[in-house]
Amino acid sequence: MKLVTASLYIHVPFCKKKCDYCDFYSVPEGDWAGGGLLDRFVDALRADIGGQLAGFRVSEPASVYIGGGTPSLLGPGRLKTLLEFLEAAGGRPLNGEFTVEANPESVDEAFLRACLEGGVTRISCGVQSFNKEARRAAGRRGGIERLGAALALLGEAYGGAFSADLISGLPGAGESVLLRDIETLLRYGPAQVSLYDLSVEENTPLYRNVAASKLSLPQADEAARIWIAGRDFLEAAGYPQYEVSAFAPEGKRSAHNIVYWRMGNWLGAGPSASGTLIRDGGGGEARGLRRTVAADLRGYLSEDGPEVLVEELDRDTLIRESFLMGFRYIEGPDTALFQKRFGCPIESLAGETFSRWREHGKMRDGLCALNREGLLMLNKFLTECFIDIDRSAPRRG
Ligand code: SF4
Repeated sequence: MKLVTASLYIHVPFCKKKCDYCDFYSVPEGDWAGGGLLDRFVDALRADIGGQLAGFRVSEPASVYIGGGTPSLLGPGRLKTLLEFLEAAGGRPLNGEFTVEANPESVDEAFLRACLEGGVTRISCGVQSFNKEARRAAGRRGGIERLGAALALLGEAYGGAFSADLISGLPGAGESVLLRDIETLLRYGPAQVSLYDLSVEENTPLYRNVAASKLSLPQADEAARIWIAGRDFLEAAGYPQYEVSAFAPEGKRSAHNIVYWRMGNWLGAGPSASGTLIRDGGGGEARGLRRTVAADLRGYLSEDGPEVLVEELDRDTLIRESFLMGFRYIEGPDTALFQKRFGCPIESLAGETFSRWREHGKMRDGLCALNREGLLMLNKFLTECFIDIDRSAPRRG
């Protein structure tokens, strides 16, 4: 049977403490420290990954991304065990990108050595801000000195091959704080910077603090202005925007994330991870399979194994997801793949919206893609595309 081309995402759901703005699935230290839980987790992960690689006939994934949570909290020994397992099980990319996420607090020489020896080609580091007050207000752990030391180590081990995240619009952090943050970060020579606009998710301490007026955030217009100032600063410094929140020169873009944006195949292992496999089907009748592991660490470690939700994705869902993901990317969706999967050119479904946005100078010349001004209004663009798609449904039968 033919091997399937897919990437692999691995979720490691451990954090020292939850940051106040975070709604990813992760478990704070008080709930996992001791009792050999991390070792049991690595064992469960090996069973999960091994089962999926064999079951879905994936070997040597196009790219691998170990995220979280804080994968670096596994420590160098367990990380080494996991990386050796991936190599033995055909779960390591042969020539592709292999990323591990790290928190500055847990980056040290031993961790970086384990990554280098295990074939990791890229580190993604959550910085968020260098500003003490903003970090405190966002409940972000770790002092500035530790942050600087970790970035310096990263620069030595992975110079030009690490990415770092910043958050714009943190409490009390205006434009000058953000620009200083970017300037400081660029001194360490990252390959990519991701600049996220702070989003306040319900059920987070940040949400409750803002609702109780204990913290104030910039108004939406001001937050947008701050983020745009950051975008312009990054672009002027040689980091062009290539996705809604990602900035990097062309050869330094994240190959793994591009798989998501261009609707490739990927497997997801670990609690809360989801994977998607798309069969082209022939005759434009693509079908997809989404497999989501329950966000439940105890269940993941139980004898019965994790609960897994499996969904069939029909053609219409896949078309909409191709728009949702593809137009985040500065190159737009993969139009040739779209035609092959769905049996029609993408323009035939939302051509009226494309023409209007092109006329208003919001799309890239000669490409089925938004430009940087268009990306600022992605949601509006997608809403208009979906109205076109709904209208075209009767014609599509
Ligand atoms: S370290 Fe990352 S995953 Fe963990 S709580 Fe903070 S933002 Fe969330």
